[in-house]
Amino acid sequence: MSSEARGQLLVLSAPSGAGKTTLARMFVERTPGAFFSVSATTRAPRGHERDGVDYHFLSPERFQSLVDAGAFAEWAEVHGHRYGTLRESVERALRGSGVAVFDIDVQGGAQIRERFPRDAVTVLVVPPTPEELERRLRARSTDSDEVIRRRLAAARSEVEAGAARYDYVVVNDRLEDALARLVAISRAERARRGGPADPAAAAAAGACARAQARLEAWAG
Ligand code: 5GP
Repeated sequence: MSSEARGQLLVLSAPSGAGKTTLARMFVERTPGAFFSVSATTRAPRGHERDGVDYHFLSPERFQSLVDAGAFAEWAEVHGHRYGTLRESVERALRGSGVAVFDIDVQGGAQIRERFPRDAVTVLVVPPTPEELERRLRARSTDSDEVIRRRLAAARSEVEAGAARYDYVVVNDRLEDALARLVAISRAERARRGGPADPAAAAAAGACARAQARLEAWAG
């Protein structure tokens, strides 16, 4: 099978407050053939979430039996619940020719990258600075200082872990600009793996590569 006929595994991770979910949704809406991979989780559905659409909602026992059966391509514990990508979801994505978007945490993204090095593209979405993240977290929630401090500390470690392991960093300063960078990364990677050449995308993606060098604002 040529690389072009295989699906792309586009892994998106971000600390909460980075705007990843909006960015991912816009990417899927605007990219022909792109779709979300549906993860499994042990957490309860929220609001309008539907089983099989937003997540496969599983009991802890069922999740464990799938772990034991080796059914997950990756799984991780996030905020006290378990989340995982079913191997079948990855295999289905690879059999297709579109872009499968994985909205998963950094631990999971690193596992996907290790297991599918030819097909996975890992992208860390970050707010421009820790100060901007703090402003966004305070603006959108009624959380206590303590909760916000904990989120900020978690964000710093997620950014550090991602910077060390991920292929690209997209700084989400303005949504439209961040989206254009993400589109360029997906196209450039497709070209690199045997698709049609796309020099403009390669140049834009190049500016998001070398993850560690892009994160001075987050250092220290
Ligand atoms: P939420 O409960 O808010 O939907 O998601 C919480 C966190 O779990 C987010 O960071 C999300 O990216 C991550 N997550 C969702 N699905 C998966 C998955 O299948 N694997 C891993 N490792 N993380 C996931």
